[in-house]
Amino acid sequence: MKLTNEQIDLYSRQITLKKIGPVGQEKLLKSKILVVGMGGLGTPAAVYLARMGIGNLGIVDNDKIDPSNLHRQILYNLDEINKNKIEIAKSKLQKINPNINIKTFDLRIDKNNIDKIAKNYEIIIDGSDNFETKFLINDYCIKNKKILILAAINKFDGHIFTFNFKNKKNSPCLKCFIPNTQIEDTSCEREGVVGSLAGIAGSIQANEAVKEILMIGESLCGYILIIDTLKLKFKKIKLNKLKNCICDKKI
Ligand SMILES: [Zn+2]
Repeated sequence: MKLTNEQIDLYSRQITLKKIGPVGQEKLLKSKILVVGMGGLGTPAAVYLARMGIGNLGIVDNDKIDPSNLHRQILYNLDEINKNKIEIAKSKLQKINPNINIKTFDLRIDKNNIDKIAKNYEIIIDGSDNFETKFLINDYCIKNKKILILAAINKFDGHIFTFNFKNKKNSPCLKCFIPNTQIEDTSCEREGVVGSLAGIAGSIQANEAVKEILMIGESLCGYILIIDTLKLKFKKIKLNKLKNCICDKKI
């Protein structure tokens, strides 16, 4: 695959970077990323992935746009209330970058459909708002050796993880951090979340995805990034594989 003149113009500021260059840009154009949930995390992540030229983007959501979404879900406007998120998201992302393939899944991901939705993607970005879905994606990615970039945000704080089950033998998983899968969701509905934190976390997820595709920089795999926006502290702490965790067993 050779970059066209149009692509060279579009991605010139990335191609200039030594760690990306034309070869890296071609890799991005060939890559396949699935974003689960087009909410506070998924919308900024998808906007950047589309702009950066991720060639094959899958997006999953079956919600309608609600007024309470608008303070953080950057693809939607007030005159689009009650419309399907997935349709609005696709049309806007396609306008941002008409040169990429965007596949939509107008459904809620569950154990029966996850394989059909996710099998063709190498990286899954979790933008879901509940731990049931996060654990489901976690287990699927372990079993199918995918790269999972997961985030959880609440109030003014966020946690971001990269689990690389594709290239790293010792990648921990979400259950190494939260072994008790019966934990209660601290949903933004009840506890609230500051809008800009969703943008910070979703943008970091997009950035981590690009790093994993290009294998540049230091992977977040094996660490948790903890963000405290009130104190403006970013902490990276070690996350080790838990003995006898699902990720430690041969499945
Ligand atoms: Zn684990």
